[in-house]
Amino acid sequence: MNKTERAVLVDVSLKKEKIDPYDLVELEALAKTAGAQSVGEIVQSRDKPDLRYYIGEGKVAELKAACGSTNAEIVIFNCDLSPSQIRNLQDELGLKVIDRTGLILDIFAQHAHTKEGKLQVELAQDNYSLTHLTGKGIELSRLGGGIGTRGPGETKLEMDRRRIRKKISQLKKELDEIREHRSIRRERRRLSKIHVAAIVGYTNAGKSTLLNTLTKAGVVAEDKLFATLDPVTRMLKMTGNKEILLTDTVGFIQNLPHDLIEAFQATLEEVTEADLLIHIVDISHPNFIEQINSTYKVLEDLSAITKPMLTVFNKVDKYTGDPKVLLKKYSPAVAISAVKGTGIEELIKRIGKLI
Ligand code: GDP
Ligand code: MG
Repeated sequence: MNKTERAVLVDVSLKKEKIDPYDLVELEALAKTAGAQSVGEIVQSRDKPDLRYYIGEGKVAELKAACGSTNAEIVIFNCDLSPSQIRNLQDELGLKVIDRTGLILDIFAQHAHTKEGKLQVELAQDNYSLTHLTGKGIELSRLGGGIGTRGPGETKLEMDRRRIRKKISQLKKELDEIREHRSIRRERRRLSKIHVAAIVGYTNAGKSTLLNTLTKAGVVAEDKLFATLDPVTRMLKMTGNKEILLTDTVGFIQNLPHDLIEAFQATLEEVTEADLLIHIVDISHPNFIEQINSTYKVLEDLSAITKPMLTVFNKVDKYTGDPKVLLKKYSPAVAISAVKGTGIEELIKRIGKLI
């Protein structure tokens, strides 16, 4: 286990967009998954980002004071910063600064388990360092290890562009080979006429928990974002001795940096190949409608939105309202509790019917 880092979180809303308190809640959860504990939070609303620091000079002073009084070790921004903004902030604060993409990359680096998952993270980190490779500023190594410095990305800042480019094309080649193998596996699956259902949904909705409940698969289910990075596929026995393959996917989140779509490839392919999408929604989350819509957006990007879909409202044990109206609106839909086992029989029946 890595030691927990003390982090000050910064959320900026631009162009008079109203500040959404759940943005910070989500950032906190992402930080926790990466191994950082929030010890302070700073918000600012501005028309456009400041060229030098993203936030205004006065806010930088406030941030510096907050870091000092909380003994923070790292500052995490909920947006993408330019390389020079990162450098200026690090110089000014004397602390490590990372942005949203850097944070998500770090989570990927810690949670990739398969060869393909690891290669994908490495590819994403290389692409990221290629665009963030400039000049001096405080050397990251002087600011210690931890978030943003882990995994294959560690020494990237010292590499020159050419070497990174060469490495990228090598990684792509290796990934292509692995993908080739996977498509052969999939073809075999198709020939055996076994149907595939993919569990999709916003991160933390309960996808892994459901796969566990359904198949006793022993997939990691944790109260962390991105606990699942690599797709896990398990056999599910239906009534009448029918079997289907059920695959767990990485969680979707809002504002997923576009560069990272590449890193999701393995999971996304499972989605585009599936016969049925099982869309898990955490009905107990105050923002669940927005979460449904961000999942739809990713599915649209993948041209998978027209696939047959069963909406599963999970965590009804924590929901005080009546899901009836929602079940009608999002039909076909069921309400379940993956943890308590409520509604699972009905769910399996519905999956059987739709497949
Ligand atoms: P994933 O990111 O969608 O795979 O979500 P996980 O399966 O890892 O679950 C995230 C968190 O939600 C875990 O702490 C689970 O224990 C919790 N959770 C999952 N299903 C339920 C449920 O039906 N009720 C409640 N109360 N919590 C649940
Ligand atoms: Mg999961």
